[in-house]
Amino acid sequence: MPKTRIVLPLVAYTLIFLLTLGVILLSVELFALYTTSLKANADSETTKFLAETYDQAPEDQKQAVLGSFEEYGYDYLIADDTGRILKHSGNPTILLGSYDDDEDGEYSTLTITVSDPDLPEQISSDEYTLDFGTNATYYPDRDTDYLEVNSGSLGFKFLKLLNADFIRDLYHTGSYMIPYWTAFRVNDNARIVAFKTYIDISFTDLLYLAGYFVVAVILVFLIFAVLITNLVSTHRNAKRVKKIVFSDNVTGNRNWLWFVLKSREILKKRKPGTCYAMVSLVFIRYRNYVLCHSVEEGEKMLKEVWAHAESSLDKDEICAHSTSSNFPMLIKAKDEEEARTKLLEIVKELEGIEKDHDFKFQAGVYMIPNSIKKDADIDLFYNNASTARMTLESTEDTGIAFFDNKLVEDEKWIDTVHEKQKDAIANEEFKVYYQPKYDPRTDELKGAEALIRWISEDLGFVSPGKFIPIFEDNGFITEIDHYMLAHVARDQKRWLDEGRECVPVSVNISRAHFVETDLADQIRDIVDKEGAPRNLIEIELTESAFFDDKKVMLSTITKLKEYGFLVSMDDFGSGYSSLNSLKDMPLDILKLDAGFFRGDKDNDRTEIVVSEAIRLAKKLEMKTVAEGVETKETVDFLAAEGCDMIQGYYYAKPMPAEEYEKHIHHYLP
Ligand code: C2E
Ligand code: CA
Ligand code: CA
Repeated sequence: MPKTRIVLPLVAYTLIFLLTLGVILLSVELFALYTTSLKANADSETTKFLAETYDQAPEDQKQAVLGSFEEYGYDYLIADDTGRILKHSGNPTILLGSYDDDEDGEYSTLTITVSDPDLPEQISSDEYTLDFGTNATYYPDRDTDYLEVNSGSLGFKFLKLLNADFIRDLYHTGSYMIPYWTAFRVNDNARIVAFKTYIDISFTDLLYLAGYFVVAVILVFLIFAVLITNLVSTHRNAKRVKKIVFSDNVTGNRNWLWFVLKSREILKKRKPGTCYAMVSLVFIRYRNYVLCHSVEEGEKMLKEVWAHAESSLDKDEICAHSTSSNFPMLIKAKDEEEARTKLLEIVKELEGIEKDHDFKFQAGVYMIPNSIKKDADIDLFYNNASTARMTLESTEDTGIAFFDNKLVEDEKWIDTVHEKQKDAIANEEFKVYYQPKYDPRTDELKGAEALIRWISEDLGFVSPGKFIPIFEDNGFITEIDHYMLAHVARDQKRWLDEGRECVPVSVNISRAHFVETDLADQIRDIVDKEGAPRNLIEIELTESAFFDDKKVMLSTITKLKEYGFLVSMDDFGSGYSSLNSLKDMPLDILKLDAGFFRGDKDNDRTEIVVSEAIRLAKKLEMKTVAEGVETKETVDFLAAEGCDMIQGYYYAKPMPAEEYEKHIHHYLP
């Protein structure tokens, strides 16, 4: 979690705290203002009465009234409507003033300057004036006209008051008197009479104020403390959640999500010239390990692997555990060579985790282009690394593979085939090619194999090696096999109807098809529907298929034979030892794989194997077909060994139906 998540609210809270403190100070000031104005109001009733008395007194009595003011101890002043002082009692208190009429006459200001001998020594009369008398506002429309002496900020005023006299007075008398002027309009607004009274600030007032202030501040501090505690606990919770979200439940360490975010951060902050590689490291045969030991032991191993891998990394290199036995890694490497060296070292270390086990690791690597800094697509990089690793899956040995764009092309091709397959079959883009099989002794046509070709409008001519494995993977192969079978049966039927003498044509049935228990019935129904005789159709099963479910295989072969089809084993000798299957399966034909006839021509050992295979087939009452024969020597050799048929370029390449038709015509008049 970024630090700003805690810093930002902290700053915000502090601001709020300061703001609240300011508001409190203001409220304290307002409170003080309120209490003083309450006190002032009490006096203003008296002064109002005095002003009215003066106003209502007849002209010749006014002097006497003023005299009684002095007697009662009131300091007063009489000013004209411009604020010029005409008369005053005691020391001069208001020296000069000016009266300014507002345009609509509703509101006027009278500026007076006050000088008062009662001022404490420390404060000059000017300063005092500034506080208490600079601007006085005259309200003519109030029920009692009066001149209000505007004061400055009370807080400021109190600070000024906190002088030795103030403290001394408070200490000795329990109060401090603040002089205060109240003015009234008299003589039909021609005169202003103002009285000086005192507001006494008592010790208790100050105590109240201080108490109020302290309580408010404590309250604010409390609120602030709650907010901070809350923030800290939220932060702690976030940390805890982060730990849960980012930790892997098998190794207890970092998981995929963490890896993605951290990788992004590292790539974003990397220095120019630092290159990185994304690695998909897999502990292979992990499942076997778990089977032989236990899930707990397996997970313990994964933990060990993670710890060892992690410890062999440099700064700004990371490793996490994702699913099963996969470990995504981000390592620094300027080129493939460096990445390989680094990974080999890591893998070597990992292989030695336990002496009595032969652990193997495979790594796929994607070199991250240096141009990518921001918004790195970690999923894509890892996918590329995994794609590279997948190329090693056929082996069970330690290995390192690098991502190459060809892998992407392959993936794209798979997608293209997948996308187009349905339309292709519907538009009959798949064509049946026939490759004849001949008797090497008489050169007579004995049969043919149907081989598929895809002649696509957009893709052109596509050889089966480029799409059959894809169809086998995606399951479309079953439709293809049905399609081929139906087309071959249709061709055979047509040729028979045309009066030609037909030879059996073999059709390849993919091993993916053999899981279907009613395969024999499906084949029978398709052929019968086209009306071709069953004995003109041969079913080629590839050798590797004999390793799948033997029971199903045996029952399918038996049924196919019962229905009258010929059944052959394709690619015999291509890698799977299927002698055992030969023993159990009632096959008609054995097709010797082209591999026997390729490469070193004078290999005695190959010849021995081929001739023995032919003899074995004969003993099992099976016919033999040699595939991929290209030379006369091989044909002669096979003829001598008693091979029944040859299918290869020596005689003919696979050809379109129209061309094959001519072959049957030519050889079978
Ligand atoms: P396969 O069944 O072993 O087919 C024999 C392959 O050997 C064919 O390749 C054929 O053209 C080739 N061939 C025959 N004689 C020679 C020769 O003298 N020299 C050389 N170099 N090659 C020769 P093709 O047609 O490319 O087919 C490749 C594979 O694709 C087939 O191997 C088969 O496994 C599969 N396939 C082809 N058509 C179908 C089909 O309709 N259904 C299924 N399931 N698989 C098919
Ligand atoms: Ca075949
Ligand atoms: Ca074959």
